[in-house]
Amino acid sequence: MIRMITSGEWLMHLWLIGTVASAIVLGFFSGFFRAHKIQPRGFKWKILGFELAVAVLGGFITGFLLGNANRLLTAHGFILFHSEPVAWWRVAIEYVLYFFLFDTWFYWLHRWMHKEPFYSLIHKLHHKSTSPNLLTTLSVNPLESCINGGFVPIYLTAATLIHLPISTAAAALILPTNIIMGLYVHAGFEFFPRWWNKSWATKWFITTTFHDQHHKYFNWNFGGYTTIWDRLCGTNRAKFESDFEKICDRRGDWWRKPWQRKPNTVAAPSPEA
Ligand SMILES: [Zn+2]
Ligand SMILES: [Zn+2]
Repeated sequence: MIRMITSGEWLMHLWLIGTVASAIVLGFFSGFFRAHKIQPRGFKWKILGFELAVAVLGGFITGFLLGNANRLLTAHGFILFHSEPVAWWRVAIEYVLYFFLFDTWFYWLHRWMHKEPFYSLIHKLHHKSTSPNLLTTLSVNPLESCINGGFVPIYLTAATLIHLPISTAAAALILPTNIIMGLYVHAGFEFFPRWWNKSWATKWFITTTFHDQHHKYFNWNFGGYTTIWDRLCGTNRAKFESDFEKICDRRGDWWRKPWQRKPNTVAAPSPEA
């Protein structure tokens, strides 16, 4: 048996089977991801290079500033954690409160950063990409990262000052949320179901297309975690929901041959808002 496995003929068969299987899997997934891409023709290597440089440089500066702020606040007793075991509902309240308060913080500061001179000075860097990808999440002016990321130490300090320090369990959920949500909204791919923005229960939670359109059309869809403030203030893009459905319709026939697919009406450059 071992001699058969190590024989040249068997290895050649294995190589052939492996190559054909990989081609099928790669073809499947490249078609799958291409069909789910929100802006299929939006990717530019030049922008990606720029984003990489900003992400690396900005990451060091932001890490240094926010890291030291957190360290100083903790060292001086302004940030304490409740490390005893707590009830699940307390963890839930602490997390949900963070989620909605951060969303409010982000929405209003984001709108402020779209006004001159703050747009040119702070936020313009993040809008270099009109078709976001995962790296766009980190392609942010360090000052903006501190403005957005500064909410977590403020929240933790406020909880400590009112003698209700955040539990370590809730903190473990809160700390990675910003980066996970950032990667999610900049992913450039839409996987959510077509009915998402029609259902009263789900339409409040942000989709990747929602923030993707903020990068494409600038003055709409300012929310970071939810669509609540945009819906309340009328800053949600009027054509967002119909575009979202078109994107969902397009991905439905991703397994068909390219010439059999529906034309992509969403990706076409459009001068209107
Ligand atoms: Zn913006
Ligand atoms: Zn963005």
